[in-house]
Amino acid sequence: KPIVIITIGMAGSGKTTFVQRMNSYLHSLDPPSPPYILNLDPAVTNVPFEANIDIRDTVNYQEVMKQYNLGPNGGILTALNLFTTKFDQVLNLVEKRSDSLNHVILDTPGQIEIFTWSASGAIITDAVASSFPTVVAYIIDTPRTTAPATFMSNMLYACSILYKTKLPFILVFNKTDVQPHDFAIEWIQDFEAFQAALSGHSGTRDSEGEPTYMNSLMNSMSLVLDEFYKHLKAVGVSSLTGAGMKEFFEAVEASRSEYEKEYLPELARIQ
Ligand code: GDP
Ligand code: MG
Repeated sequence: KPIVIITIGMAGSGKTTFVQRMNSYLHSLDPPSPPYILNLDPAVTNVPFEANIDIRDTVNYQEVMKQYNLGPNGGILTALNLFTTKFDQVLNLVEKRSDSLNHVILDTPGQIEIFTWSASGAIITDAVASSFPTVVAYIIDTPRTTAPATFMSNMLYACSILYKTKLPFILVFNKTDVQPHDFAIEWIQDFEAFQAALSGHSGTRDSEGEPTYMNSLMNSMSLVLDEFYKHLKAVGVSSLTGAGMKEFFEAVEASRSEYEKEYLPELARIQ
């Protein structure tokens, strides 16, 4: 059975470029292992890979905007909702091809919340995850995440998606050609190193000598994150150069057994 990789991340983190890189990496294997790719971003203007299924072939989000009198985000969300009503047909197409596939890849809309906090995103995620082994690849713009507070809010976002989907989860630190991700690995592995970085950036004590609100909030959040990190894998990649792709796909393979051991029993329990 193929494994489904759901690509999620903030706008501009490099989801689409990463999908392109996965595609070219899988084609370059010996023997080649071409993935089946679904583009779920109705608003993307330039798709740098050949999508097997493209939401833009089904719905024109600009027409949707006009017809329903919506702004861009409403248009994208409505286009995704319309597409989701046909998602059983999409799954059928994937099932038909599944004997010859190792990977199915989903690219999602630029704005993260459109997929992660919409009914459609949840329906699509649950549908694929109940049919195939599935993993979430959470793409991070590494050069833009070097400030401790930004790092923490990005990790908390990832954390909320992990607890919502309960799926195997890979943190993908992208753009390592611009900024190596070693600082991130250090913060993930060493709680005290992260706390030290945090207090270097925000005042630890207010004028009365009490810990500042921000600082005590961050300290408790760090405890939450420490628990979160136990449940995931982290890799650094460059979608530009292809660095780190081997490690990424090793993490994907490890997620397959995690899906079987942890997600499937949970699925059986709630059904
Ligand atoms: P998306 O909104 O998450 O789909 O992001 P895109 O894939 O459209 O990428 C946003 C921008 O980041 C583009 O200008 C990409 O060229 C750039 N980008 C993506 N991955 C990398 C990378 O690994 N290194 C560098 N230097 N730039 C990247
Ligand atoms: Mg994109």
